[in-house]
Amino acid sequence: AVQHYDVIIIGAGAAGLHCAAHAAARGKSVIVLDHAKQAGKKILISGGGRCNFTNMFASAENYLSANPHFCKSALKQYTPWDFIALVERHGIAYHEKTLGQLFCDVSAKDIVSMLLKECKQYGAKVQLRTDITAVEYHQQKYELTTSQGQLTSTALVVACGGLSMPKLGATPFGYQLAEQFGHTILPVRAGLVPFTLHDTDKQQYAELSGLAVDVIASTAADAKTSASFTEAMLFTHRGLSGPAMLQLSSYWQAGEVIDINLLPRFELLQQLQQLRQQRPKLGLRSALQEWLPKRLVQVLAQSQGWPDKNLADCNNQLLQKVAEDIQAWRLKPNGTEGYRTAEVTLGGVDTKEISSKTMQSTIQPQLYFIGEVMDVTGWLGGYNFQWAWSSAYACSQHL
Ligand code: FAD
Repeated sequence: AVQHYDVIIIGAGAAGLHCAAHAAARGKSVIVLDHAKQAGKKILISGGGRCNFTNMFASAENYLSANPHFCKSALKQYTPWDFIALVERHGIAYHEKTLGQLFCDVSAKDIVSMLLKECKQYGAKVQLRTDITAVEYHQQKYELTTSQGQLTSTALVVACGGLSMPKLGATPFGYQLAEQFGHTILPVRAGLVPFTLHDTDKQQYAELSGLAVDVIASTAADAKTSASFTEAMLFTHRGLSGPAMLQLSSYWQAGEVIDINLLPRFELLQQLQQLRQQRPKLGLRSALQEWLPKRLVQVLAQSQGWPDKNLADCNNQLLQKVAEDIQAWRLKPNGTEGYRTAEVTLGGVDTKEISSKTMQSTIQPQLYFIGEVMDVTGWLGGYNFQWAWSSAYACSQHL
């Protein structure tokens, strides 16, 4: 016999599970389907295994979307404090790491078990290892053909996430479903992803691999979108990573240069000139090592062609060049590491055909989109999970 539900949710990730529990709590019969063997795989590996489950300061400014206003209503309906209250109700210990980012003290597993417990408590079913082969809409019902048989529902919620980390089960299924029902998909690309460098740069900076520096990283003045982040940058054997670079990658367009200030909030030129007066015999490189790691100074001296001179022999023009090389270091990334290591997918289902209050399609009856599958992408720092929770909740209240 074909089983009928009020709501079928495709995707047992952050958004799907949260929506299922809230919809079931309102008395709906709900089933969540996922092709994976395990629910919430991305949650489990998130935040280095501790899940950065929200950001206390989440607001519309922390999201990228063709419609920057779209996320406002859902974020207001279900705020970080609502999710924090849920986490506290389940007795999960957490802490703020930095910049409003909240992490589990123990393990991301706590978040997944919490979501599954909520589903169970309200009677939402979670069915894994289920491949969906066809979705049709007939006589005001969704009909799903799956590897586990036929199912029908009144409402269908697409919570399939984006394309990042295909190894964890990411597929373009959500976009395909959206297209099947007439929705527009905005171009997708990897976000929150390390930069790769061109071969010459890669060779030059390879020996810095593992070094972390606090920087201000910005898109160039003539870039399509302006953005600037003050956070740590990490040299890797492939290129540049660390929070500052991951953040910038979401704004960067192929071919653009990036600007990096390796000594933020510091009057470098002035300091060098002062030091030249006080200790004229000090070498330029030794002077720079007062403020920057030795390895970095040596590698930059080579790549930027700084002469091996005492400060006394450095004219103002040279000191100015050195200061600019360090505080306005300009690099042209080769690209990014792509979906293999990206935390998120930018672009996706265009929000112009979705209600911002309910996440319901404005062109297909009883169809909803929640989470990352939509063209709403958060910064690094708990914003993406908050979008999953908020959009899921907004949807659940309307189902
Ligand atoms: P997902 O959680 O990705 O869930 C989608 C579900 O749909 C998956 O279970 C998948 O198996 C299922 N699915 C896909 N295709 C099909 C199909 N064809 N049939 C059936 N099921 C399907 N964000 C933060 O806010 N904080 C963090 O600390 C953080 N860390 C991250 C670390 C890593 C390594 C990665 C990759 C991401 C991280 N993110 C983090 C981003 C965050 O995980 C996502 O934005 C969030 O999980 C999106 O939720 P979602 O429910 O929309 O999609």
